[in-house]
Amino acid sequence: MLDKIFAAGVVGAGGAGFPTHVKYKTKTEVFIVNAIECEPLLRTDRYIVETFAPEIVAAALQIKEHLGASRAVIAVKEHNAGMVSALRRAVGDSGVDLYLSPSVYPAGDEQNLIFCITGRVVLTGGLPLDVGCVVSNAATVFQVHEALAGRPVTDKIITIGGAVANPMTVSAPIGTALADLLPLAGGAVGDCVTIIGGPLMGRVAESLDGEVVTKTTGGLLALPRDAAILPKKEADLAREVKMARAVCCQCSMCTQMCPRNAMGLNVQPHKVMRALAAGNCGLIGAEANGVWSCCDCGICSDYACNFGLHPSKMMQVYKGRMREQGVKPVKEVKYQPQGFENKRLPTARLMGRLDLSRYDADAPFAGSVEVQSVRIPLKMHVGGPCTPTVGVGEKVEKGQLIARPEGLGANIHASIAGTVTAVTAQMIEIRR
Ligand code: SF4
Ligand code: SF4
Repeated sequence: MLDKIFAAGVVGAGGAGFPTHVKYKTKTEVFIVNAIECEPLLRTDRYIVETFAPEIVAAALQIKEHLGASRAVIAVKEHNAGMVSALRRAVGDSGVDLYLSPSVYPAGDEQNLIFCITGRVVLTGGLPLDVGCVVSNAATVFQVHEALAGRPVTDKIITIGGAVANPMTVSAPIGTALADLLPLAGGAVGDCVTIIGGPLMGRVAESLDGEVVTKTTGGLLALPRDAAILPKKEADLAREVKMARAVCCQCSMCTQMCPRNAMGLNVQPHKVMRALAAGNCGLIGAEANGVWSCCDCGICSDYACNFGLHPSKMMQVYKGRMREQGVKPVKEVKYQPQGFENKRLPTARLMGRLDLSRYDADAPFAGSVEVQSVRIPLKMHVGGPCTPTVGVGEKVEKGQLIARPEGLGANIHASIAGTVTAVTAQMIEIRR
């Protein structure tokens, strides 16, 4: 099974791209399929689950058996009626459990999900495996199904949404220029910037030049330049430190609403604000360890702070400084979880606060995108870049192996049939 997953080049489709054959090289107790899709406006998991629920359930059972797990659980938001009914039909009496989550943010955070399903807390610096869990995104599990049938990863399902004329979900060959996708949805309406990924955790791209679909791309959103969320995403650090010093009243609302803090982890962004505002570039003593458990969900900045400050950015800065100083996480849980349920943030409220509700539209599947050329990156996964196995002028078929990893990594395959027209240290170009 692992050989087939490795051969197909499967990586975590919803995260940083950790190679799946490495992740599954273990035994565990609970296997969780994450179909929550908690980033607003994205619809990729919705399409995949509604269309391929039987394949996802079949793959989940095979993975469960491979991991020696006693339980396989598929997590989905209860208000997504189409997903829930597709999964109910597919699950039948297979023994796979469904976990129906309320529509809260960040319900799809891996550690949040583990806590909700098993009541276990992944300690600071720990992994889901430490508490007997392996979690994979629904898109990844579908790709595992395809891998077991001998079909490699060549395409990615992507939502094109936000301020566009016709939000849609498409399947695009890996290496497709993102600039070619926006016009499919009617183009951006007004003066917009683009976000690659979801509105909260995605990154702002002023220009789409050189940006392509990778194995981990989930969305392409256009948002007006004056969108409420943009200043928070593009915050200037020096200004933020000044703002923290001048404005932060240490009300601790950011800490009180932090979902990782609610699970009992010692994540206290207000203390990091205080330390950085005071010019303390050193560590905050015993409290510093909890900073490692921040998941960058952005609730503290995007929702909790009434002064529009940016504690999540400060947490990132603080983490960076600890890394520079060679500080390593120490496994601990500081408190008992308290008021977890009461602290869960309804996604609708978050979207209202960020003025995203107006873009919360369906993004129906519009088919596969046909392109004349692709530029496939050699690094779309955790680990080093792959080494090309093809040269310029060579003809390739769709699905043919074109690069393989030297160490940790995942195989890369041609996403269209054609001729290799360029090979660099970063990418392989193929033209039809
Ligand atoms: S950053 Fe905002 S929410 Fe946090 S303590 Fe300061 S003022 Fe309060
Ligand atoms: S980004 Fe803020 S709210 Fe989210 S986990 Fe980190 S500190 Fe907590």
